[in-house]
Amino acid sequence: MESELPIKQMVEMIGATRPDEIGCDECFEQLDRFAELVLAGKNAAEALPLVQDHLSRCRDCREEFEALLAALQATTFSPRPQHLPN
Ligand SMILES: [Zn+2]
Repeated sequence: MESELPIKQMVEMIGATRPDEIGCDECFEQLDRFAELVLAGKNAAEALPLVQDHLSRCRDCREEFEALLAALQATTFSPRPQHLPN
């Protein structure tokens, strides 16, 4: 039994399921969270894949991220991570 799915429709479906790319603004909004995850030793790339994706292709945001990471490392020199429950 052959289904007659139009190729064109399938292509559009595949296109629709592709992960959205985010822009610099959206990346920047989540950058501090991303950096916190990295500092906490968590898999930030898995938690925020769109940010990771953007950082891998946007040099400006990557530099911004590295600067933020350095700043956070400088301020959070406490050996104990402070995880407060919500
Ligand atoms: Zn960017």
